[in-house]
Amino acid sequence: MAELLGRSLARSLDPLAGESIGGYLLRLAHRLRLSPIRLARLTGCTKQPSSTQLGRRLLLELDTRAFARATRLSEEEAAALTLLSWADRYPPIWRLTSSTIVRPTRDDWLFNKAPRYCPRCLAGDGTAIQQQHGGPWKKAWHLPVAFICPAHRMFLQSDCPQGHPSGRVATVLISQPADTTLHPAQCRHPAQREGQGRTGPSCGTRLDHLENTGSPCPSEGMLGAQQRLLDLLEHDESAEDAASFFTDLRVVAAVLCASWPFSRELIEPESQDAVGRHVQALGAGARPIHDSPPQDSTAAAGLLTAAVRLLDESDRRELVVHARAGRPGSASRAPWVPVFERNERVIH
Ligand SMILES: [Zn+2]
Ligand SMILES: [Zn+2]
Repeated sequence: MAELLGRSLARSLDPLAGESIGGYLLRLAHRLRLSPIRLARLTGCTKQPSSTQLGRRLLLELDTRAFARATRLSEEEAAALTLLSWADRYPPIWRLTSSTIVRPTRDDWLFNKAPRYCPRCLAGDGTAIQQQHGGPWKKAWHLPVAFICPAHRMFLQSDCPQGHPSGRVATVLISQPADTTLHPAQCRHPAQREGQGRTGPSCGTRLDHLENTGSPCPSEGMLGAQQRLLDLLEHDESAEDAASFFTDLRVVAAVLCASWPFSRELIEPESQDAVGRHVQALGAGARPIHDSPPQDSTAAAGLLTAAVRLLDESDRRELVVHARAGRPGSASRAPWVPVFERNERVIH
């Protein structure tokens, strides 16, 4: 099918609201009965024709013109499947894609280590097309600031309930992309069977069939904070104000972690233990790292809801200056000072 390169596919699909390029490839591949990697090759998603993997960087590096031509989408629709449209609002995206920064450092606030998802979104909205090929894998779920699905009022799930070793899958957009047997909502991690290595069968657990996720319901405060953050990614405020808010959010989150357990009372009770575990994990290394978002959705909700509330209810400038000053007598060594300064150069 290499001869199709540069031409349009015979059939395509309309993107769903908020859908990621990974989710779109899964649904379209399912419709065309192709493997995701084969579809990716046909639509210009892979630079090397012999590529066997699809990395997460496609969310930042998609050739939107070639992809739009192949899939019969507009360039705008193709670009909306990537994170690029949020680059001026969410600083970690800007830093990674900016040509003025020669060698960007790895940023924990850019991608979640394990993919998050809402089972009910993946199950689809009941329309014929979503019954056939599932609902959207949303691009916001890649970001650590997405932890709740406001539509279904539930915490996002992390990874597969079967549990799989992380590692190389962390940077992968679609795992086992040569597997043609799976529905878009099925787990694509390699099944753990002795001796079959990377070419073995996929796990196949239906992530849209999780009846009881075991998670409590998010509070109204958490839902409000999540909606506020998602609105900032769209067009609720100016891009400059949104970028500034996300930077301050990160600084305040670092302050909350660095001042644990004194900050515990600022966290909603049902997520205090989860945030405590996150803080403990941050301090587990030789040097505590405070500028790293929680991987667990409940901990992320607790920490970031408190940070949003502090930013919205306080004088932000005063709060950030206070954070910058650090503990009395130890301003230069306060752990959040480097976080602030690193981001300040970009935003303020
Ligand atoms: Zn949902
Ligand atoms: Zn699985």
